[in-house]
Amino acid sequence: MNLSPSGVLNADLHCHSNVSDGTLSPEDLAARARANGVQLWALTDHDEVGGQRRARAAALKLGLPYLTGTEISVTFAGETVHIVGLGFDPDDPGLVAGLARTRSGRQTRALEMAEGLARAGIPGAYEGALKYVGNPDLISRTHFARFLVDIGVCRDTSEVFRKFLTEGKPGYVPHRWASLGEAVGWIRQAGGMAIIAHPGRYKFTPNEEYALFSEFREHGGLGVEVVTGSHTAQDASKYADLAQEFGLYASRGSDFHSPGESHTDLGALPYLSGTLRPVWEALADRIHWPA
Ligand code: AMP
Ligand code: MN
Ligand code: MN
Ligand code: MN
Repeated sequence: MNLSPSGVLNADLHCHSNVSDGTLSPEDLAARARANGVQLWALTDHDEVGGQRRARAAALKLGLPYLTGTEISVTFAGETVHIVGLGFDPDDPGLVAGLARTRSGRQTRALEMAEGLARAGIPGAYEGALKYVGNPDLISRTHFARFLVDIGVCRDTSEVFRKFLTEGKPGYVPHRWASLGEAVGWIRQAGGMAIIAHPGRYKFTPNEEYALFSEFREHGGLGVEVVTGSHTAQDASKYADLAQEFGLYASRGSDFHSPGESHTDLGALPYLSGTLRPVWEALADRIHWPA
C-alpha cells in the first residue's frame, strides 16, 4: 500500500486519549478514526507515550496505518507552545526521561490550582478533577474544567478556561515546561519529526512568532500544523505561507479530545493544499502498516 504524495489524504495526526486529557481509550479512538474514514492516524497524548502500544495495535487490527505521536508542552517567550512529535521510537530512553520530567510538575501545579479555586469559593477541586483523570501522572487543566462544568459552575469547558483557568484567573498557575530545544531534541534523537502544533493559537507578536519559527528550524524542527481543529481558514492560509517561507512540511490533525467537547471530529478537516509538502512524505518509512 502507498500513500498519496499529494495533500489529498485523510490523515489525522493529532488527538488525545484518556492517557492524557481526552475521554476515549486509545482503542475507542482508533475505532472512531477508522469509522470516520481516517487513512493515516497518530495518537498524540500530552507529554506522554503510555498509550502508543495500544493505539498502534488497535489501529493495525482495524487496517489503519499508524504513526507514533506525542504533544510536548514547551515554554517559549513566556507562553506555552505545543510541539507535536511523530514517527519516533516510543522506547527511546532520552525521550521517555524527558517526557517524565515534563510531566513531573503537574501534580504540584494541580494542588496550587485547587488552592486558587478554593479562594475563589470552589472547594475540593483537586479531588474533583482527579475523578476525571485516566492517568494519575497527567492531571491537566482540562480535568479541572470538566469538574467545574459537572458541578454547574460553568456551562462548558471553554467558559471554565475563560473565567478560571487562563492567565490572571483564580485557577491559573504559571508553569515552566520544557524548552523548545529540549522538546525538539528529544523527538529528533528518538528518530522522529518535530512539528509546531496549532500556531494560530499563540498570542505572539509578529516578532515573537518569527523567533519561534526560526529557532524551531535551527533546532532541527521540520514541520508545522497548517490544517487543525483550532485554525480558521485564514489561519490555515497564513501558516501554509509560513510553511513555505521556512521550508517546513505541513501537518493536519483534528486535536480531537472528546465527543461532547470537541467541535472537530477525527478526520473531519479540510485537506492540505496540494502545493504543500505533507509531513507523511518525509515520514513514509516510519509508518506502521497493517499486515
Ligand atoms: P494543560 O496542559 O494542563 O495546561 O492543559 C492544556 C489543555 O487544556 C489543552 O491541551 C486543551 O486540551 C485544553 N484547553 C486549553 N485552552 C482551552 C480552552 N480555551 N477551552 C477548552 N480547552 C482548552
Ligand atoms: Mn489537551
Ligand atoms: Mn495543544
Ligand atoms: Mn492537542
